[in-house]
Amino acid sequence: MESVNIQSNGAIVIGKSFAIDGFAEKPIRIITHAHSDHLHGLNESLRYSKHIVATPITLDLIEALGYINSELLPLFKLKSISLNYHQTYSINDEEVEFYDADHIPGSVQVLVKIKDKKLSIGYTGDFKLTNKTEIMKDLDVLVIEATYGNPYHTRPFKESVPQILVDLVIEGLYKYKKVYIYAYHGKIQEAMSIIRNGGIDAPFILPDKAYRVVRVLEEKHGYNYGNYLKENNTSFNKEKCIIFKHFNSAKERRLDGKGLHIVLTGRLTHEPFMKVDDYTYVVSLSDHADFSDLVKYVEYSNPRLVIIDGSRHGEAEALKNTLLEKGFCSMVLPQYP
Ligand SMILES: [Zn+2]
Repeated sequence: MESVNIQSNGAIVIGKSFAIDGFAEKPIRIITHAHSDHLHGLNESLRYSKHIVATPITLDLIEALGYINSELLPLFKLKSISLNYHQTYSINDEEVEFYDADHIPGSVQVLVKIKDKKLSIGYTGDFKLTNKTEIMKDLDVLVIEATYGNPYHTRPFKESVPQILVDLVIEGLYKYKKVYIYAYHGKIQEAMSIIRNGGIDAPFILPDKAYRVVRVLEEKHGYNYGNYLKENNTSFNKEKCIIFKHFNSAKERRLDGKGLHIVLTGRLTHEPFMKVDDYTYVVSLSDHADFSDLVKYVEYSNPRLVIIDGSRHGEAEALKNTLLEKGFCSMVLPQYP
């Protein structure tokens, strides 16, 4: 399939014009969302490509998370083009349109139409399958992520996880006043929404980057997360509060009976949550499709060819084998010898 390639650096190259989520020598760099494994080679793209295309939220989050060197910031502002869901952008008879991926704020799937070859090629990026997710149909090629591509990664209980998280937070606030939640960017904001929807109004205490992300989402994009403060603010010390930390700092948590710790991960597959010590729960909150949702997406979309992204973490070969068994023409790219 000469119109689609996946490079080992993670770039999904479609048609003559588009390098998506990685660097390639193409006039347009598209970014599906502001997670670091989809921002590879952004500095090179800024120098090489004519434009950087992403949603307004993604462009703002990339800046808020500090992914652009200060000397390249003017170039980023000059070259970036904001494209909203279902607006189209065209170059050289190739057209791109964004679909909702419901992964993190601003995240998209990408549909490319190559007009002279009459080809429709869709790339899911990272996605979660919910009632917000839009399924790309009538595709010649579907490029799909495979983070949880192994049948082992099925989480049949996923609908019940938000309420479990809310219940644990209520219990933690009642017993200890302080609840610590460890998660990656994007999932922090999802957990904040779940907790507010669960009727909890204790203030959120956020690390610097998450604070900047939430401020941008509230001030420019209409999100509302209620009361939140930056983590060096001391005014909350005696109050009930929910303290967010980056996932990687969970190993430094203090088990001193002064707080309940909740670690959010998509990797827990046997049960919705697990108690790991007297003061710590691991909760299975994922912002990716699980294995059965990946298969469902392909069945709903029903493309002529499925290409599975094997350049990122995930289980591309396992997903390919399942899709082949179900009769879908499937392959993994890049192909390593
Ligand atoms: Zn992601």
